[in-house]
Amino acid sequence: MKRSDLTKMCRPAGRLLLLALAWALGTGAAFLKEHFAEKESAPSAASASASAGAGWGLKFHKDGQRPDGNSSMEELAAYDAFYARDTEEKVLYLTFDCGYENGNTEPILDALKKHGAPAAFFVVGTYIESEPELVRRMTDEGHIVGNHTWHHPDLTQLDMESLEQELTDVEYAYREATGRDMPKYLRPPQGRYSSDSLQRTKDLGYRTIFWSLAYEDWNQDAQPAREDAIDILTRRVHPGAIVLLHNTSSTNAAVLDELLTRWEEMGYDFRPLTELQ
Ligand SMILES: [Zn+2]
Repeated sequence: MKRSDLTKMCRPAGRLLLLALAWALGTGAAFLKEHFAEKESAPSAASASASAGAGWGLKFHKDGQRPDGNSSMEELAAYDAFYARDTEEKVLYLTFDCGYENGNTEPILDALKKHGAPAAFFVVGTYIESEPELVRRMTDEGHIVGNHTWHHPDLTQLDMESLEQELTDVEYAYREATGRDMPKYLRPPQGRYSSDSLQRTKDLGYRTIFWSLAYEDWNQDAQPAREDAIDILTRRVHPGAIVLLHNTSSTNAAVLDELLTRWEEMGYDFRPLTELQ
């Protein structure tokens, strides 16, 4: 058995254990913390097959160049899914995953506003319930509020009915909070997907948005240093990048204004996800 096969087999068990541990701790915060641990996965994941279900992973070749993903842009395009835009143009698509609120979203919104930068915020259902004002602010300031499901499950493990429920419950909450229809953009929880899950979400009218640039900003107990965040995000940025950041990161809240300035100085322009097709 190849080592990579072994890793694949062990991974779900590890995840279950983490989940069980988080629940055992008895706090929703601990649960969410584990649950939102969406980091860039190991380079070996680049060869994973999407048919059986995989976590989104990236393989970086050279600074400033688009990395390879588990699935190619062409494969994803068949399902209205994207991880970057195929372009030489210096454009960026900013996205934030929002699992819960800890006071960092306001400064993030302030920085985006200052730079006139559109972004997409992928929210779980409970985020809309607990933070309707922030969700309204995102909407009013021209950002896309996208669907990150209600319970943050692994979409490859759901039947069609449960999957649809996960999405429509969030759509309903969004309409309640804003009086508008939710734009149909989806970020799969934990980056988990399969060709089946992609087909199903496509059938429900969704565009799936993966990413080509992210860093370890999700760990509340080990927030990256400001300089490290700027360094990695300016080194790895590339034309057409979809950037994944987490709204819970105090580092992101602290550096976003400077980061956007640096990217602008590099010639980058921020664009809405509506451009992707
Ligand atoms: Zn998430």
